[in-house]
Amino acid sequence: MDLARYASDPARSRGRRHAEAAVPTRTEYQRDRDRIVHCTAFRRLVYKTQVFLNHEGDLFRTRLTHSLEVAQLGRSIGRALQLNEDLVEAIALAHDLGHTPFGHAGQDALDDCMAGSGGFEHNLQSLRVVDELEERYPRFDGLNLTFETREGILKHCSRTNAQRLEESEPGGVARRFLDRSQPSLEAQLCNLADEIAYNAHDIDDGVRSGLLVLEQLAEVDLFEQFRIETLREFPSLQGRRVLYESIRRMLSAQVYDVIDTTRAGLAAASPASADQARQAPPLVKFSDAMAARSVALKRFLLHNLYRHPQVMATTDQAKQVVRELFAAYLHDPRQMPPDFAARPDAPRAVADYIAGMTDRFAAREHERVTGRQLLA
Ligand code: MG
Repeated sequence: MDLARYASDPARSRGRRHAEAAVPTRTEYQRDRDRIVHCTAFRRLVYKTQVFLNHEGDLFRTRLTHSLEVAQLGRSIGRALQLNEDLVEAIALAHDLGHTPFGHAGQDALDDCMAGSGGFEHNLQSLRVVDELEERYPRFDGLNLTFETREGILKHCSRTNAQRLEESEPGGVARRFLDRSQPSLEAQLCNLADEIAYNAHDIDDGVRSGLLVLEQLAEVDLFEQFRIETLREFPSLQGRRVLYESIRRMLSAQVYDVIDTTRAGLAAASPASADQARQAPPLVKFSDAMAARSVALKRFLLHNLYRHPQVMATTDQAKQVVRELFAAYLHDPRQMPPDFAARPDAPRAVADYIAGMTDRFAAREHERVTGRQLLA
């Protein structure tokens, strides 16, 4: 498959922080992807919450299945746009490595705990995982990924954190947050694929959980259009097949919208290289109409699913687990494994340790250190 001139070319990568010799059969981005799939943090994603806590049911998305769906959508779109599929896959599989247990509840609680010590932000943590926390290689910490994969992993970054990163890595992955340029087209694509994936699978999981009912979704234009279309074509279709077929059509419509809109934008901007694409405005995007419909769907999910009383109740318990674990480890670091206990930066060591936990490990640890069971 020929790559477009604005695609990321592994032969022109800005390289790794620690120089390594090329290998004969794989490109640099394939190597990144393979390193990610083999790392410990990747395996932990299977027991980390996306929206529903891991113990609430076996069929809900976890961070792992979510990441696979992002990779699938990203690769489909990336291939159609002649972008670098290997890079898209590497970024997609790594984009959530820094997530805490218990999803956003865990991240918010940990950020509160770290308020006086630099805060906690999951995108930055994903970068810490691949740059520092994985221990797999004899000569360096982390996975020593290429600049382009790391750039895609750091999808958001506050100005303060960007300045801090810029000091340790001048002109590195944080620079674009200071000079307001864009990441590679592959990274832009992963951001959008993330959104497309969770909007769709959260409808599916929401309905499966019983917290959303199909009729409620009538107010969501982007979904309702395809539900009506499905029933027009298959009038006797019922139950989950209506849901799946509507979601499938909704996904396809968004994928084709991104491809068409991005192709038109690329034709107009005509970037001659991946670096020129970084200097242009964001190019991988929805049409304005689709963007508005996607925002409306997000708003619906926020009000009706993410803030559903039942979700909020487990969210409060999950936050308490994280807060109490943090306090317990900070009070007595020896409750952590020796390599974390020995670190001089105690709050950050505790945050790194907790962030790495799976939901069920965090719940068990909480029970062990407090003697109380909050999440059963
Ligand atoms: Mg994600």
